[in-house]
Amino acid sequence: MKKIELLYEGKGKRLYKSDNEDLLISEFKDDLTAFNAQKKGNEKGKGALNCQISTKLFKLLEQHGIKTHLVETISDNEQLVKKVNIIPLEVVIRNIATGSLTKRLGIKDGTILPFSLVEFYYKDDDLGDPLVNDEHCLLLDLINENELEELKRLGREINNILKPFFYKRDLKLVDFKIEFGKDKDGNILLSDEISPDSCRFWDAKTNEKMDKDRFRQGLGEVKVAYEEILKRINMENN
Ligand code: UDP
Repeated sequence: MKKIELLYEGKGKRLYKSDNEDLLISEFKDDLTAFNAQKKGNEKGKGALNCQISTKLFKLLEQHGIKTHLVETISDNEQLVKKVNIIPLEVVIRNIATGSLTKRLGIKDGTILPFSLVEFYYKDDDLGDPLVNDEHCLLLDLINENELEELKRLGREINNILKPFFYKRDLKLVDFKIEFGKDKDGNILLSDEISPDSCRFWDAKTNEKMDKDRFRQGLGEVKVAYEEILKRINMENN
């Protein structure tokens, strides 16, 4: 499978046309960005780690019946994926309060939420990806009511699969962001990635941060943490 033409470059990945018109090549970059790209960095090998982590997690979710855009990995940092139209919503699922939730609502950092909270953020860099409610999504014509319910259901289901998977590996899945796309037949597929760039993981014993917060907060040892996440995901511990 050959990269024919660069279609899109995002903060964490480049998307290329392939020689099959229904499939694209997603290349994971080593760049790190935070705070709407105001903070920038680079960790050699980070892209390959995220590619491997995301591939493992998408395959796990597929095994549990979640449809994803993943076809196969074609190199250390490249995946062959189904072409989709990305729904411009970031779906965030939270189990423990931290980050923007604590700032917005004054909930104490580290509070275990009484239920898994699903939130939508409108993907628009110029607006700074604002939090939106159901009616905002309908008003902006981003999605219809049935699809909105489907995204919430899928978000909760994915959390129900991933949370115990990580807990068995001594990791708390604090929160995470996922994106969905629609294929040419209108199927909603989990797309983009699930990696330490888009999730928060805390060590279950020490509460040490093992995700992009190490970069956001300048804690160092970013790659070491990502390597540890991959190692724990690879543990046979079902
Ligand atoms: N997140 C992400 N991309 C974004 C914003 C958030 O992947 O553009 C992830 C983030 O890594 C975390 C979750 O979504 O796992 C919730 O992030 P939050 O809203 O707390 O944002 P932050 O505190 O990072 O601004």
